[in-house]
Amino acid sequence: MSFPLHSPPMQRLIITLDGPAGAGKSTVAWRLAKRLGLEFLDTGAMYRGLSAKCVERGIDPVTEDYAVVELARNSDFRFDWAQDPPRLNVGGTDVTDRLRDSDVTGQVSEVAAIPGVRQVMVRDQRRMGQEHPRLVTEGRDQGSVVFPEAEVKFYLDATPSIRAQRRAEQLRAAGKKVDLEQIRDRILDRDHKDSNRKDAPLVCPEDAHRINTSEMTLDEVVELLFGLVHESAGQAL
Ligand code: C5P
Repeated sequence: MSFPLHSPPMQRLIITLDGPAGAGKSTVAWRLAKRLGLEFLDTGAMYRGLSAKCVERGIDPVTEDYAVVELARNSDFRFDWAQDPPRLNVGGTDVTDRLRDSDVTGQVSEVAAIPGVRQVMVRDQRRMGQEHPRLVTEGRDQGSVVFPEAEVKFYLDATPSIRAQRRAEQLRAAGKKVDLEQIRDRILDRDHKDSNRKDAPLVCPEDAHRINTSEMTLDEVVELLFGLVHESAGQAL
C-alpha cells in the first residue's frame, strides 16, 4: 500500500462581501472569517491607507490624480497577517490608526475613483488572493471585478439611517466625537461617489446573495452568512 508523501493542498475558498459604506461589512467579514477559519482582507483599508499618505504629503486627489497614481505605484501595501485583524503598512508607515480619521475618510472616494489607483489595488488584491487562497474579502468591487470567480458572494445593504447609527457607534467606541447628521450626509455622499464613478462602481454582482441587514443584529448577520457558506461551498470547508 502506498501513502501520499504530502497532504493535498487546501482547497481554494474566496468569499466576497461588497456593499455601501457603513453596512457593517468589515465587522461581519472579520467575524465570519474567524468562524470559518479563513483569513480576512479589508480592501477599503488599502484605499484609506493611500488617502492617509496623500494627506501626509499634501496631495489633492481631485487636482493631482497623477501624483496619487505615482504614490500608489511606488508604495508597498503590506498587511501584517499575523495580527488579528491584520495591520496595514503603506510605503513603510503603519497607517492602521489613521484609517478612520475624518480627513482620511473625507477624500477616500476621490482617491478610489482614480483608474490608475484601482489598477494597482486590483493587481495587489489578486496577488493577496493567490498568497491567501482561503479568504473572506470585503469592499465595493470584490465580487464584481477583483474575484469574479469567487466561490461565494454576498452584497450587504442597510438603510442610510441605520448605517449612520452603526458608524456612529463604531466611532464612539473608538473614543471619537460624533455628529450623527454629519455622518449620515457623508455616508450618502460616499455612496453617490462610489456608485457613480466610471471605473468599477459599487454594484451588486448578479450571482451574489443580497442581504438587507437593517433589522438584523451583527450576530444574526454572521449566522446567516455562515449558514449560506455551508450551503453553497460546504465541500470546501
Ligand atoms: O469600506 P470602507 O468604508 O473602508 O471603504 C473606504 C472607501 O474605499 C470607499 O468609500 C470606496 O471609495 C473605496 N473602496 C473601493 N473599493 C473597494 C473598497 C473600498 O473603491 N474594494
